[in-house]
Amino acid sequence: MTATSLPFIGEPVIDRCHLDRDDPAANAARWSDPAALLLTINVHDEVVVQRRPAGPAAAAARSARREPPVSLAPGPTAGDRDDQRQLFIGVVSGRPWFITRGRPVPGPGQQLAAVRSLSLDPVDREIVWSGLAALHWAESQPLCPRCHGLTRVTPGGPTRICTRCGREVFPRTDPAVISAVLDHDDRIVLGRQAHWEPGRMSVLAGFVEAGEAAEHALVREVAEETGLRVVAARYLSSQPWPFPRSLMLGYVARAEGVIALADHELAQADFYSRDQVRELVAAGRLQLSTPMSIARSLQEAWLADRLPAPESGTDLSVPLTH
Ligand SMILES: [Zn+2]
Repeated sequence: MTATSLPFIGEPVIDRCHLDRDDPAANAARWSDPAALLLTINVHDEVVVQRRPAGPAAAAARSARREPPVSLAPGPTAGDRDDQRQLFIGVVSGRPWFITRGRPVPGPGQQLAAVRSLSLDPVDREIVWSGLAALHWAESQPLCPRCHGLTRVTPGGPTRICTRCGREVFPRTDPAVISAVLDHDDRIVLGRQAHWEPGRMSVLAGFVEAGEAAEHALVREVAEETGLRVVAARYLSSQPWPFPRSLMLGYVARAEGVIALADHELAQADFYSRDQVRELVAAGRLQLSTPMSIARSLQEAWLADRLPAPESGTDLSVPLTH
């Protein structure tokens, strides 16, 4: 089993138009394209989604095709574009996509839904996450790091320009590590944060500190949260998590030792076998992570015994010499 056959990520969906992304004429043409779409997200990060047909037969057919229950329902672009408010996401299958903050209104067969907990297909997911990350960054209104002047989003949206000194400011992303942490019997560590409801469990995760290698962040976070010692880790895939601006670096890791909760971040953490997880989920006593998260992908890949061995990655049990 290779990492590319895992259900984490596939080919890029969005053409970010890097060659002419900040060309005003090109962006005007994209905005006025009859096929252009505008996705509106409210202040609670909710969007309008199209419900798919209900009923047992439709649900069964959807399940067989592994289709999610909803899809994005964007509107058309109209009027003049305000490039500080209507941000360009990119072109998907020939259609330009834009995003804006506003008050989306559901039509018949539609509803408002929180982006964070949606189950969308990979195309919709990449569009809405990319757009949301751009919005969050645009709304953060950073001042120029050199002169503290005001910055403006460039017409195509990939950077901001200082209105005083002209410095280009790039979007910030916070790297975090997330890992299926396994013992030598392939049991997985699931933990519950103190503010989560009982039964909700996930794999371990934490932010990379400044100047720290991602692998070392993994070793440190696992030790801080559980007292376990990571001895091997293999990188699998990344996933943006724009709430507000994380990039999750996904691993499978081997750990040794005994779980001892130390830093009070977790209220509970234990090793679980696959049978235990299946039984607890079936009994409604264990709730896995939200469907579109890499945490859920890690959990499902582990349940299906489709994760590569951590030992096929990096040996973290010995010092680096030479
Ligand atoms: Zn400046």
